[in-house]
Amino acid sequence: MPPGAEPLRIVLSGATGRMGTVLAELIHQEDGLELVAGIGRVPERGCDVGCPVVETPETAGSWIRQADVVVDFSSPELLARLVEGQGAELAGKALVVGTTGLGGEGERVLAHAAQRSPVLLAANFSVGVNLLLALAERAAAVLGDDVDAEVVEAHHRRKADAPSGTALALGEALARGRGVSLADVRVDGRSGHPGARPRGEIGFHAVRGGDIVGEHRVMLVGDRERIELGHVAQDRALFAEGALRAARWLAGKPAGRYTMRDVLGLG
Ligand code: NAD
Repeated sequence: MPPGAEPLRIVLSGATGRMGTVLAELIHQEDGLELVAGIGRVPERGCDVGCPVVETPETAGSWIRQADVVVDFSSPELLARLVEGQGAELAGKALVVGTTGLGGEGERVLAHAAQRSPVLLAANFSVGVNLLLALAERAAAVLGDDVDAEVVEAHHRRKADAPSGTALALGEALARGRGVSLADVRVDGRSGHPGARPRGEIGFHAVRGGDIVGEHRVMLVGDRERIELGHVAQDRALFAEGALRAARWLAGKPAGRYTMRDVLGLG
C-alpha cells in the first residue's frame, strides 16, 4: 500500500463461518485491507477470527458506518435481516455477496439495496468458474438442443442449498446460449419413472459428502460425441481471494448491480 493511503475497511458478514474464517485470515494477510467487524450469531465461536468484534445484524450499524465495503458469506436469512435492518447505514457502501440459495425474496432485497449502493452478487468468485460460465454459454449457443445438457455438482456434507448456486448459474448460462428460459427446461434429479428424456431439458444433480470444496461438471451429450466442461475448487481461499478482488474493485462505484464478469473484464 502506498504511504499515506487509507486501507479498505471491511465488515464481514458470516465472519465465524467456514468462508468467513478464510476471508478474515486473508484480510489480515493482504496489504491495504482492514477488518472492522464481523457479523454472525452471537455468541457463536467467540471472536477468534481476527475481527475486533462480532455483532448481530441488528447491532452492527455503527461498524457498518465506519466501513467501505460489506462482504457477505452467511445465509439468505442473515443477509435479508442485515440489508433490511441496516438500510440507512448501508447506503453508499459497497456490498459484495457470496451467499447462495437467495431465491426471489433475496433477489428483491438486493435489488432494493442496489438503488443506493453498488452491489455485486456472485454464486462463485473463482476466475476459473467465471470462465467456465462463458464457455458453457458459448457451447450451448453452438450445439443448441442437439445435445442433452446435464449439470453435476458435488459439495461438502454441510452445504444447505441444492443444486448449488454455481450449478444454477451454469444452467442459466446454458439456457441463455440456447435462447430459452431456464425455468421452462429445468429438471432437478430424476427418480421413479420419468420416462424418455424430452429434448431441451437441462438437468441438475447434486452430490453431497465429506469436505468436498466444490466441483461442477457440464455434460453436453450427443448421439456420437460428448463434450464435458468442468471445474474443481481445491481450496476455499480461491473464493475468498475472488471476493476480496471484487471488494477492491466495487468500492466507490456508483449504485447499481455488478457481476464478476465486470470485475474480470469478461464482457
Ligand atoms: P457456514 O455455515 O460455515 O457460515 C455461515 C456464517 O453465517 C456463520 O458465521 C453464521 O454465524 C452466520 N449466520 C448464518 N445465518 C445466520 C443467522 N440467521 N443469524 C446470525 N448469523 C448467521 O457457511 P459457509 O460454508 O461459510 O458458506 C456461507 C455461504 O457462502 C453459503 O451460502 C455458501 O453456499 C456460500 N458460498 C459461496 C461461495 C461463492 O464463491 N460465492 C463459495 C463458498 C460458499
